[in-house]
This record gives sequence, C-alpha cells and structure tokens, in this order.
Amino acid sequence: MKKNLSFVMAVGWVFSLSLAGLAEAQDNMQIATWAGFRSAAAVFTFDDGCANQLSIAVPIFDKYDYKASFYLVTGWSPNYNAYQALVDKGYEVGSHSDNHASNAADGRTMPDSEIASSKSNINSHISGQTCNTITYPNCEEPNETTLKANYIGGRICANGIDGATPNNYYRINSVICGNTGSVNSAEAFQGKMQQAINQGGWVTFLIHEVDNGNGYSPTSSQAIDGALDWAKKNDSKIWVTTFRNAIMYSKERDKSTIAKKSGNASSETYTLTHSIKDNVSNYDYPLSIRIKNSNNWTTVSGTQSGKAITTSIKDGYIYFDAVPNGGDIVISSGGGSTNPSSSASTQPGSSAAQPASSNSSIGGSVEYKLEMEDYMPGGAGIGYSDLDGKNDNTGYRKGGDDAGVVAVGTGYGIGYTMAGEWFGYSVEAACDGQYSVVARAATGNASTTRFSVSVENVSGSVAVDVPSTGSWDTYTEVNGEGTLKLSKGKNVVKVSIDQSYINVDWIKLTSDNAQCPEVIPVAKNLRLNSLSGPVQYQVFDINGHLLKSGTVSAQGGVQNLWSTASRGLSKGTYVLRYGNGSSTRRVQVRK
Ligand SMILES: [Zn+2]
Repeated sequence: MKKNLSFVMAVGWVFSLSLAGLAEAQDNMQIATWAGFRSAAAVFTFDDGCANQLSIAVPIFDKYDYKASFYLVTGWSPNYNAYQALVDKGYEVGSHSDNHASNAADGRTMPDSEIASSKSNINSHISGQTCNTITYPNCEEPNETTLKANYIGGRICANGIDGATPNNYYRINSVICGNTGSVNSAEAFQGKMQQAINQGGWVTFLIHEVDNGNGYSPTSSQAIDGALDWAKKNDSKIWVTTFRNAIMYSKERDKSTIAKKSGNASSETYTLTHSIKDNVSNYDYPLSIRIKNSNNWTTVSGTQSGKAITTSIKDGYIYFDAVPNGGDIVISSGGGSTNPSSSASTQPGSSAAQPASSNSSIGGSVEYKLEMEDYMPGGAGIGYSDLDGKNDNTGYRKGGDDAGVVAVGTGYGIGYTMAGEWFGYSVEAACDGQYSVVARAATGNASTTRFSVSVENVSGSVAVDVPSTGSWDTYTEVNGEGTLKLSKGKNVVKVSIDQSYINVDWIKLTSDNAQCPEVIPVAKNLRLNSLSGPVQYQVFDINGHLLKSGTVSAQGGVQNLWSTASRGLSKGTYVLRYGNGSSTRRVQVRK
C-alpha cells in the first residue's frame, strides 16, 4: 500500500505541472516524474578531485552499484586514467573550473574563459561521455549565457532540496555534507532523501574530502555507506543517479509528449517527442512511461525503432522506458513480460489464463512456468535447502516452510539466496522434450550472479547468469545457456544458487520440439461438463495475439464451443482459452 501511495505521488506531480485540458491523455498515458516511477531523485556530487573520493567513496558506490558525479579542477592535475575508468563504469565526470577561480578578478568567481576551456580540457582526456555539467568553485555562478552554451546545468552550494523541476537548471541547489555541512551521518543523509521523497523532489549532495580529518569538510565514509544502504532498501522510491542523468530526465520529462499514433487488438504504436534544442545535448535519456492496459493484455512485448525494449504489466498499466525522439514505440500483445499480479498466489489458476506464459502450448511450443515461491512442500531437504533462514515474512508459505520468499510486485519470488541453497519444483510434462530456460531475476550485486537449473536424475544443468540489475527489486528476463531434458510424466526441477544474493521471480521452461499438442479437429465438440453459466472464450494466434473472443451459453453442461470459436478462422493452429481462462487448448483448423 505504501508503494501505491508513492506511486500516485510520483505520477501526480508531473501532471500538476502539466498544461490543463489533457485529462483523457493523462489517464491513459503518463510520463513518470522520475525514472522507474520513483518519487524522488538523489544525486551525489564530489568536488575538487580529492584522492580519497576515488580510494574510499567509489568502492562504496560500487558496492551498492550506484553512480556518482565527480567535478575536477583541470589545473590540479587530475588522475584522468582513474576517472576514465569511472566513466567506463557509468560514473560522470564534470567541470569544477581550471583553477578554482584563483586567477579570477574577485578570487571567487571562475572567469568566463574557463567555462569552455575546462570542458574541453576534460573532453580531451575522457572519452565515452561529454562533459556537460558543472559545479561552481566557491559557490559563485559565472556568466549564465556562456554556461548555457556549454552545459545542460550547474550546481551551486546551498539551499537544500529542489522540486522535480528546479527553478533554474544553472543554479541547482545542494545539501552540503561533511563536518562543516548539515549532513555527516547516515541518518542525516536518510532524512534528506526522505524529505525529497515526501516532496517528489530532487536532492543533490555536495561532498568534498572523505574520511580526511585534515581536509576540507570531510564526510564520513560510514555515513555515505549508510546513505546508500538506505537508498538501496528504498530503491522503489528514490532514484540514485548522476547529476547529468537527473538534469536530462527532468528537462525531457517536462518537455516531452507521449501520444498514441495507432492501435488494433494486438498492438499499439506510440510516439514520445520533445523539441528541446540547445546545441549541448540531444536530450535522449530514456523516460519511464506507462500506458493503460485497455485491452487487458496478459503478456506484452515492445520495440522502439524496431529494437526491443523492456516492458512490464502492473495494476492495469503497461510500463516501459523509451528515448524521446527515438522513433515509434510499438507495444504488442504476447511475448515478453507477464503480469506479475496474475501470477500471485491469491488467484489460483489465474496463471493458466495466459497462453504465452502458462502451462499450455502455443506457437508450436510447450511451456512450463514455475513460480519460484511454489517450491515443493515437505520442508528442508525435500522442497528446499535454506542456509540463512531469512525471508520477507510475507506469510505466503505457512508452518515454517518459508525458505526465503520475497514480495515481487504484488506477487512473490525467492530471495536472500546464498550459494549452496536449492529449491525443488515438480513438473508434470506432457511429453519428452528439450527445454530452454528463461528466468525473471534481480540482483543488486555489482557483477553478474549465477544460478543453475537442473532435472533430478538427469545429468547436465543450465546456467543462468543474471547481470546486475541495480537493485534486488529491479527484475529482468535472462536466458539460460543450453537446454534441459524433461521426460513425459513427473520431473523434479531443481533451481540451485551458485552465487549469493540473487532474487528469482519465476523461470519458464520452453520446448520447441516437444510434439504433444492436443489437437481438436474442427468438427469435434468440446465438452464443457465442468463449466456452468455463460462461457467466455478467446482465440489466439500462435504468437499469442488475441484474434477473437466471445461468449457461448453452456446449456446442460455441453456446448459446441469450438464450432462457434473457430468460425471464420483460416486453416492453421490456434490457442483456445475458455472458462474464465482456466482452460487452454491448442487447436487446429483443417480446411
Ligand atoms: Zn571546490
């Protein structure tokens, strides 16, 4: 529930800033205030190129897989090799002048000439990014016209927290850290981030030395570690990112329009555009979007300019990230992502309502979806092996049978995993076949983390290498390497944790060569003995696209459903779903 509230706030803020008269569009299509529909952004900026920022702060950011922004005084001989390595990892390097204003007339404000020269000095040493943000030495903003010609934004050093749209992108406020600032403990960092969340805003922390008692306003590394630990635990609410990304996102979000271009029963096309032009940036940072799932698609996939984008379904919306001015966005029914809520345990049987993701056959293939929280009963040693006894206390597994169940959206998965743990699943296969593995998993580990899938009494296993997703709440779909053999009848599928701290929502076992579809000739009636009242049906093509739907009455428990459902279909193979989605059959029209 908490999540939903912050969700509403994140969305509401954008539209409180938007033009009036867009009520309908607002309802159906929304650009998130911050990436991932988080409530707030937090940016950590480091000034002056202090050595302890590299040696002490960076390992902490690496540990939590967050990125920060480093502002160099080019005349102070920065270790460009070290900063290049940071840029290669996604950190930002920006300008803090050439001479820290020591050559300036007033000794405080950087000269106009250094606005451009510091930028080109950094660009000549660092590749893979363009220096386009700046922090002002001694907090004094230089000539704003020259700034605008070279940078997308700049930071002063005071005044605390900004709204989602700062008053002036060249005077973005900050919170000063360290022993001369207002923040030098984990609790103080957390307080500022919580304040940003409450305001739907943006907090930028200004840090100088780290753990150096003799340096300028040193910030405690323990405080930074505590801040990032808290941020990770609140990752669904706060977006820790670089100064550049926050500026890009904020500007684009306020100037972009999402519009529906066209649509039919199986796909919809959208455009996301803005007309920002300043010769400094293309403003092509991806924005987080949600559109109403008005067709109630149970699985979706997406592309932008023909390239796959990640999609998900939640609470009646389809979510994705897209690049403004990056070409048409096409969201299609079928494939890709499934609705996490429909796999929740509170709705038994509902997962069978999804042809592309359920234990049904489609596209000439057979697929078994294993919800990871549904490991076999029987306790430790039979259903699982759990080494640490930790879980989210979801209450999903009863009687001491909780081997690490975590909440995933409105459903569940497994987490708190440690190397050596395993989980067992019973799969009743309709026929023999080789199965590939797709998993939906998350890890906040900085590097790729592995688990394996095997079948009891069958040699071999499929390794699934999950790349860092930035947090244990951010899930991605990953393909395993190789295939598994399932035999007709009962199989025990084992999910083994090879490397600690990986969360898994589900795995899908898919075979393209398991030739066991149920073929119902068009002439044969379907018996609906177990159904009463009107029966809804839907017909999908082999790619999971909905072709038609309707209702037949089930008089006397038997009805010629298929002869109605197949009407008008050309020769081929289809998937028929009926009875509130509780039954799915692969069917053929032979003409
Ligand atoms: Zn400075």
